[in-house]
Amino acid sequence: MSELTKEMPKKLGFGCMRLPVTDGSTENINDAAFCEMIDSYIEQGFKYFDTAYPYHNGRSEEAVGRCLVQRYARDRFFLASKMPVWLVKEYADYGKYFEEQLKKCQVEYFDFYLLHAMNKDRVKEAENLGGFQFVQSMKAEGKIRHIGFSFHDKADVLDEILTNHPEMEFVQLQINYYDWESENVQSRKCYEVAEKHGVPVIVMEPVKGGTLANMVGEPARILSALDENASYASYAVRYAASLPNVILVLSGMSDLKQLQDNTAYMKDFQPLTDKEQQAIGKVVEELEKLPTIPCTNCRYCVEGCPKKIRIPDIFGVYNMGVQFGVTDVTRGSYRCQIDGSGKAGDCIKCGKCEAQCPQHLEIRKLLEEAADIYEKEMHL
Ligand code: SF4
Ligand code: SF4
Repeated sequence: MSELTKEMPKKLGFGCMRLPVTDGSTENINDAAFCEMIDSYIEQGFKYFDTAYPYHNGRSEEAVGRCLVQRYARDRFFLASKMPVWLVKEYADYGKYFEEQLKKCQVEYFDFYLLHAMNKDRVKEAENLGGFQFVQSMKAEGKIRHIGFSFHDKADVLDEILTNHPEMEFVQLQINYYDWESENVQSRKCYEVAEKHGVPVIVMEPVKGGTLANMVGEPARILSALDENASYASYAVRYAASLPNVILVLSGMSDLKQLQDNTAYMKDFQPLTDKEQQAIGKVVEELEKLPTIPCTNCRYCVEGCPKKIRIPDIFGVYNMGVQFGVTDVTRGSYRCQIDGSGKAGDCIKCGKCEAQCPQHLEIRKLLEEAADIYEKEMHL
């Protein structure tokens, strides 16, 4: 058992990236609602809070300072935050952002501190600019207790990072049962790489951004047959927490109801039974049978599009709607995918994308369908 496993009292972490807000604006965090959630979480023996520089447009860390740090003794909670590596241009910037984060959170040290969203390119930049040395120096000064990184790339890149950086004590990975075997996210392969290096895993997005909390049709029937009172999200969180090398599963909680559901089944966590594991296997099989667009996310179509439409991302949301129903989660994802780029309805039908597509998809027709589903209703 690693040192970190021994430290972690319970396997559910409070992700502070989707906090309750007062008026629909991500920057206006509802302190009263957040405090109530924190109180309920801590009362039940949970301890871990995960924030980051960009969450809530830079306001999450401040909210953690006001609602958690000012109200609880420092030994009642673990606080994790992350270095916004994409903003760093020179070594001095690491210190600048780190001091700003300590100040915003009103703490003198972070229990866990991560280089945020590492991938093939970012790891090279962090190596060149001294990011790994910086976090080690903060650890030596007692301003960080444990160093690690969050990761969004393929398993071979993770293998290389963990080989080159044995000083990293943990890694935060995207793991959920639907993406376990996916070639894109590579949840299983990444988990196995971390296990091979003996590095404990913190899981992010166990419910796939909320997607696995909504089920329709046969997948819904399969899970409801196990226990009609258990939420669909509970199976996703418990699936991730059942993996032996996982020390913590983060859930981005937005209201008290969600928090109470999560804490109820994670307070005395029980790993999934064989019957539950089999049911999840069947859910994945059923989800894969649905008529989704067979886009492989190769992105050959994207560059030449005169309207800058992120075609595979729009198809990803379309597929989520087919599998899990069109809900506020998929509508929110659609808005994110067209933020700063073209929307499906902007397509001028020039056909350049279809000439590039190795899957021979009828992209123009499919974009029309996506626009019908998402843009009409939301008046985009
Ligand atoms: S057909 Fe539409 S999506 Fe395809 S390249 Fe042209 S504008 Fe872009
Ligand atoms: S080229 Fe085709 S398969 Fe590749 S991302 Fe675009 S739509 Fe998907």
